Amino acid sequence: MATDSLELVLLGTSSPIHTPHRFGPSQVITDGRTRIMVDTGWGSTLRLYQAAMPPQSIDAIFITHLHSDHTTDLADFLVMRWVGGVRGPIQIYGPAGTSRMVKGFQEAMAADTKYRLDHHGEKLWSGGLSADITEFEAGEEPMVVAEIGGIVVKAFEVDHRPVKPAYGFRLEKGGHSIVISGDTNPCPGLLAGAKGADILVCDSMNQAMMKVLENQLRTAGNEVQASLLEDAHTYHAPIEAMAETAQQAGVKHLVVSHMMPPVPVEQEAQFVAGLDRVFEAKITVGRDLMRIALG
Ligand SMILES: [Zn+2]
Ligand SMILES: [Zn+2]
Repeated sequence: MATDSLELVLLGTSSPIHTPHRFGPSQVITDGRTRIMVDTGWGSTLRLYQAAMPPQSIDAIFITHLHSDHTTDLADFLVMRWVGGVRGPIQIYGPAGTSRMVKGFQEAMAADTKYRLDHHGEKLWSGGLSADITEFEAGEEPMVVAEIGGIVVKAFEVDHRPVKPAYGFRLEKGGHSIVISGDTNPCPGLLAGAKGADILVCDSMNQAMMKVLENQLRTAGNEVQASLLEDAHTYHAPIEAMAETAQQAGVKHLVVSHMMPPVPVEQEAQFVAGLDRVFEAKITVGRDLMRIALG
């Protein structure tokens, strides 16, 4: 049943490198009826089943930016939604390049789509993996890009250079708001987008813990991966800086996600140690399949 309030369901709270305990960045925002998925990180389709929200129950997908950790499960999502019995296209909203990416996933699955149509005939929708794709542009001030079942979705530009465009999203209903930072450094767009938000789901890097991980990789002889992780420091801010922006924006609840490194449960306290000196309101370290309801 639809309500005037919103619930956040975290599907994946990790970052690009696969780990067994946290999956790729993705979340669902719902009012109890409409379900909006933001990003389709690796493993997110499996997580939808674990959250009892199968792909065929998702009303629309919004993509923050076209980095692989936010997108690659889309192929699996499209196939599972289709064989789940849906007879119509999924709405997908994303930055420039989204259309090309979706068409690529559809093309990669073209043989599979044909095999299944040949085999199952009219039991499956002839449109296969079709999607209605909207590529949008937004600036630093949150701009309405869609209204899905009474949930207003606004986009704002964030600073994830050299990845451009990159966006965050602000979902609103009944005076409530849930903001997804996307991947970003602190920037005017994030400050404007997160203003007064009930929840900010925040891209998070603990630099000291990242250095420990980089040294471990180097000691183990994996120089390339250690060096790639070091490069990531330029476009993900230290978590203290993100918390400062959240404080300035008057965010009521900071949900730490996109964790770099993707620490196990036992190290969550260490990941956010000292953050309460910068951010005065509630802090939650996100976990896959965690649900946070507003109101
Ligand atoms: Zn990412
Ligand atoms: Zn990214």
